[in-house]
Amino acid sequence: MHLEPIPSASKVAALLAAPMEGRMLIGGEWCAAQAGGTIDSVDPASGKVIGTVPDAGAADVDRAVAAAAAAQAGWAATPPAERARILWRIADVIEANIDELSELEALDQGKPLYVARWAEVPGAVGQFRFFAGQAMAIEGATITPSITYQPPGKEMRAWTLREPVGVVAAIVPWNSPIVLTAMKLAPALAAGCAVVLKPAEDTSLSAMRLGELIAEAGLPAGVLNIVTGRGAQAGALLAAHPGVDKVAFTGSTATGRAVLDASKGNLKRVSLELGGKSPVIVMDDADLDLAIGGAANAIFFNAGQVCVAGSRAYVHASIYDKVVEGLAAYAQGIALGHGLNPETQMGPLVSARQAERVEGFIAAARSEGASILTGGERLGPAGTFVSPTVVAGVKPEMEIVREEVFGPVLAVQKFEDVDEVVAAANDSVYGLAASVWTESLSSGHRLSSRIRAGTVWINCHSMYDASLPIGGMKQSGYGRDSGREALDNYLETKTVCAVV
Ligand code: NAD
Repeated sequence: MHLEPIPSASKVAALLAAPMEGRMLIGGEWCAAQAGGTIDSVDPASGKVIGTVPDAGAADVDRAVAAAAAAQAGWAATPPAERARILWRIADVIEANIDELSELEALDQGKPLYVARWAEVPGAVGQFRFFAGQAMAIEGATITPSITYQPPGKEMRAWTLREPVGVVAAIVPWNSPIVLTAMKLAPALAAGCAVVLKPAEDTSLSAMRLGELIAEAGLPAGVLNIVTGRGAQAGALLAAHPGVDKVAFTGSTATGRAVLDASKGNLKRVSLELGGKSPVIVMDDADLDLAIGGAANAIFFNAGQVCVAGSRAYVHASIYDKVVEGLAAYAQGIALGHGLNPETQMGPLVSARQAERVEGFIAAARSEGASILTGGERLGPAGTFVSPTVVAGVKPEMEIVREEVFGPVLAVQKFEDVDEVVAAANDSVYGLAASVWTESLSSGHRLSSRIRAGTVWINCHSMYDASLPIGGMKQSGYGRDSGREALDNYLETKTVCAVV
């Protein structure tokens, strides 16, 4: 274990040294929670408190929604090219502060620095650049209706306008805070919406810093408001708030359901990016070096705290022993440690609660008769580390195969033929993502059509790009983040029909 953190940017130290109690952003002002509540932010690798953030209550949420509503019309009326210019500048300021933001994510969330520095913060930059372009490409359609009863001598014209949906509440989880935040903010701002952002209570620090950087980039006051706080309080209040027109939610399926229930009062628009239990299918003709490393990375990247984590592997019987041996060896070779230690390949889980949850799944698998080929332990001396775990001897009905663990735990199963593996892959309430490992173009294509998931990767996994829609089928949610389709979450279509 590489437990010694080696932070390099003094800016992070300065940021952490400054009091955080007054760092919610409402209407362009930084403020504390009106009732004075705070939440501790913990470095999960050491268990030490690194900051104390405001715990927003009803009065704060009301003020944030009112500030967004006041800014909404002005932002919607801002010319698209100006919105695009500001979004592009946001990308630039994030990029200019990439080292600081990456260190902050590593410290607050626990992820290895390289994950933040080379995948997630650049991912956030990519979102703002992509949607800067999209801000200038919002289009309606002209339509020729077949209505025949217009007054004699007149003609009919019809067209559609695309208008911002209004005030958006963006509620995000803790596993990849900055990039998941950008996946909501960039399309919402491009569409002309004003936003109230609620980061997860365990990981609010990068959102608070992002708020400062976004203000620096010139976004008008009130267009982005940030309330830090607990899901059951600030999150639930936003989901139910009559002043919120749309909730853009990323989180667990159970919370997604609660958000949907709470949204009914004013029939908010809701998009839900939820949990997954993504299958990784290794065919008998796979390039095994690629497939073993790829399947291992699909589950162990970010300690398995990835919505699309490949947590169920299905391996063809003819190569099963070799692949499983390779996966176990890969898992054993992963260096655990503090996210800020450059030697670290896998960090802790985000919180003690999450580590205990993951331990519970491993214990249940053991008691149901599965065999833990490697890992399965809580590691110390401090922090919330769980060793990379490979579980074999599992049955389709076991919890470890059905439930989202959200930790570094892979359940491996054997298959004999294609129909069998398609049925097994689709035997899940989730449908977020899948990957297929094969050297056959035909079998890759065919499997990608037969698997019910929002994304299917062939010979790769967890490939994200701002241009590629990502989202779920079945209980993994609806609506898409990223790609042109993400704009649809934040736009209403208005039909104008005229007799001329
Ligand atoms: P969570 O559902 O517990 O929390 C997500 C967010 O919702 C947090 O900000 C939380 O404070 C808030 N929240 C909690 N209760 C709420 C309520 N009643 N009303 C409104 N908001 C509430 O999820 P998590 O544990 O933070 O994150 C892990 C989950 O997120 C996993 O299930 C994972 O698969 C999912 N996820 C999905 C995607 C995707 O794109 N599909 C991406 C990342 C994570």
